[in-house]
Amino acid sequence: MASDLVFRAMKANAKSLNLSSRNLTELSKGFGKLTRVLWLRLNNNRLTTLPVGLQCMQQLTELNLGNNAFEEMPPVLKHLHSLKKLHLYRNQISTLHPEVLESLSNLIVLNLNHNKIRSIPTAIKSLSNLERFSIADNQLEEIPAELGLVSKLTEMNLNRNKLREIPQELYKLTQLRKLSLARNNLRELPEGILGWKNLKMLDVAGNHLSMFPVNFHLLELEELYFEGNSLVQFELFTSTQQEEVLSLKEHAARFILKEHLNKSSMVSRASLLLPDIQTMLSWFGMCAVCFEPFLTTWVECVQFINLRKDMGIKNSQNIPVRVLLCSSACFNKSGHSYYSIAKVKL
Ligand SMILES: [Zn+2]
Repeated sequence: MASDLVFRAMKANAKSLNLSSRNLTELSKGFGKLTRVLWLRLNNNRLTTLPVGLQCMQQLTELNLGNNAFEEMPPVLKHLHSLKKLHLYRNQISTLHPEVLESLSNLIVLNLNHNKIRSIPTAIKSLSNLERFSIADNQLEEIPAELGLVSKLTEMNLNRNKLREIPQELYKLTQLRKLSLARNNLRELPEGILGWKNLKMLDVAGNHLSMFPVNFHLLELEELYFEGNSLVQFELFTSTQQEEVLSLKEHAARFILKEHLNKSSMVSRASLLLPDIQTMLSWFGMCAVCFEPFLTTWVECVQFINLRKDMGIKNSQNIPVRVLLCSSACFNKSGHSYYSIAKVKL
């Protein structure tokens, strides 16, 4: 039956071939002659491998291999250089081979949902045209910083994995519009979130977040999902902040940063000559009260942002957003609504 369809497709020079839901366990050799096919559907079968002859399908742009029994990305895929959409959802894949990923640089859509993938190789950075990446329902415990180099990504779905953190480099994905991180083990999002300047939808529901990173409320989000986290609750206690003693390193760093920000000539030029200092200083923060810079010593506070009033999101809840101050002196100043964080034993 399936070979009849392949034969007919060959005769008719067909551009598409649908062999989904046919209980196939292997493909006939005739596939090698289907050189004009652009769309091939092989989903809902029992395939474990693809024949080498498939590499002749040099015009193939869309391939659906979803709901089969593949344990790896079939090696022949590395010869299909025209592929733009690849579906491999609901298989048994545990490992992604870098050499296959490296040759799929024209992919725009990659769907790997519902597999057993434990890690994403750094070769993911080769997918320079990828716009939609979905790898939900896998076993990922971490993701590589190189994912931040897939610069055309607009949608990414990492739901239901085991991620404990995400790399700060993901903030380089400036085109990202939708990001799903629900039901992982995230304890916090790294600082620098304003890198996601086009983000419209963020789903972090079902993690262990206690608050959102600095400046989170300046994102132009339209949708935010965050139920099922351990967010800091708003309860007022009186407390006193003791004056901290800054280290010499912190004193020096603050001096250099301040001079540098003021573009003061001498110190600024001196630090330019020392790349290590440049790197170190690039991680500085800015006090939310006095706007002076600091390096490694700060007072961690929280402010409560109203989603509707402050962010224009259709939700009247308040969320805690991290605020960093340079000193307890700034915390003790009046006129701000930043709160220090107290852990309460229940
Ligand atoms: Zn300050």
